Amino acid sequence: MSKSRKYLIAGNWKMNKNASEGVELTEDIVSQLGNETSVGVVICPPFTALESVGKAINESNIQLGAQNMNPEASGAYTGEVSAEMLRSLFVTHVILGHSERRALFAEDDAFINKKVLAALANNLKPILCVGETLEEREAEKTIDIVSGQVRKGLEGVTADQAENLVIAYEPVWAIGTGKTATPEMAQEVHKAIRSVLAELVGEEKADKIRILYGGSMKPENADELLAQPDIDGGLIGGAALVARSFVGIVEAA
Ligand code: PGA
Repeated sequence: MSKSRKYLIAGNWKMNKNASEGVELTEDIVSQLGNETSVGVVICPPFTALESVGKAINESNIQLGAQNMNPEASGAYTGEVSAEMLRSLFVTHVILGHSERRALFAEDDAFINKKVLAALANNLKPILCVGETLEEREAEKTIDIVSGQVRKGLEGVTADQAENLVIAYEPVWAIGTGKTATPEMAQEVHKAIRSVLAELVGEEKADKIRILYGGSMKPENADELLAQPDIDGGLIGGAALVARSFVGIVEAA
């Protein structure tokens, strides 16, 4: 399948796998993947497994991502981790604004925006997550909600920084539920996101930004989702915890 944007498949392990379990899973993924280079692959383990997983992917083309970070550089922020700390472990990507953080940890768009700016300033590629709840979809507010999250999340991002951005569209009702958006539903939102990006950073830059789909993506449905013109990869939760499934999705890309 050819598209001007290189596919990106990112595994979000959430709060699963300790350091040694993480190495085991990673080694399995590395051995099944071989030297895949046509698709970008990122693994996002919990903070405590970043260092060991980082070592396990050292000789592969897989990149390392974190699941969150604090926008401040250092100081009295008990329990938090800075961009520089992630960089020191060779982290290249960071998931920001995941719906679980928005819902369970009360993160709002303004705070997520600070994180996006701090990540970019520290040479980390943010994977900014956006998505509507079931209630919002049923009220036909999907495009409004998602466009608003993109605009607010990216406030102050310059056109020069745009190439380091990744957006993940994750309908909240599809996360971990086994319900997937149909390819057409997802494509409609991805297209709307790309037109917001074009307004913000210009069409040329917007065309280069990867927009991932997330929400119960698995090898069985990856093909048709990834075939959509504006779907450039996936942010994978549950299926990223099983080497064969994760690699199956990479192979579909
Ligand atoms: P899921 O999670 O693949 O388990 O639905 C996706 C995510 O939350 O990033």
